[in-house]
Amino acid sequence: MSPTQHPAEATLVDYAAGTCDAGRTLVIAAHVAACPACRQAVRLAEAVGGVLLGDLEPTPMGAGALDAVLARLDDPLRPDPRPPAQRPDWIAVPPPVLEAARRRKRWAAPGVWVAPITRGPGRRSSYLLRVGAGMAMPRHTHQGVETILVLKGAYEDRGVLYGPGDLAENDETVDHRPQVTREGECVCLVNAEAPLTPLDWVGRLFQPFVGI
Ligand SMILES: [Zn+2]
Repeated sequence: MSPTQHPAEATLVDYAAGTCDAGRTLVIAAHVAACPACRQAVRLAEAVGGVLLGDLEPTPMGAGALDAVLARLDDPLRPDPRPPAQRPDWIAVPPPVLEAARRRKRWAAPGVWVAPITRGPGRRSSYLLRVGAGMAMPRHTHQGVETILVLKGAYEDRGVLYGPGDLAENDETVDHRPQVTREGECVCLVNAEAPLTPLDWVGRLFQPFVGI
């Protein structure tokens, strides 16, 4: 099934232009691989970017320009030189994500494990987060943007259900307490510009153990 929750259009344009940092690129790439609609949007952004770069001369746009853009929509996406990584119970992810799950997984609290993937620049980090069936995260908000993609299972957040392949972008305007559904564990790939900001005592106790 195709994902129903997508990155903002501006995020896809940044991704296509190659201006996202490494951690955010990992998360967006995994969503795009699972999402035909966003693949098409990224191809369009890449093609338009290519036409703009090729048109720096101040000449009127030729009659064939639109055809050139449309023709490039059929180009294959830039191939990753490494073979695709796959786990039978997760959506496909870039290889560094599986490596982190294998080597750096650490149980942080009952039902919760974290596996760091990238650190920096600044306070940025990306990581895998596993939360057990039916568990809720402590209430929290964000500083800067958190990009979160479901690899396995599902969680509910403010009336929206996020399943495999679904992506959310949360910032300081968000005050939430996402809850994993009762059906099973949920594993997410996360990139955050800064650590979470807990909004209750549970979160303040939880944060030093979990380190996110
Ligand atoms: Zn999408």
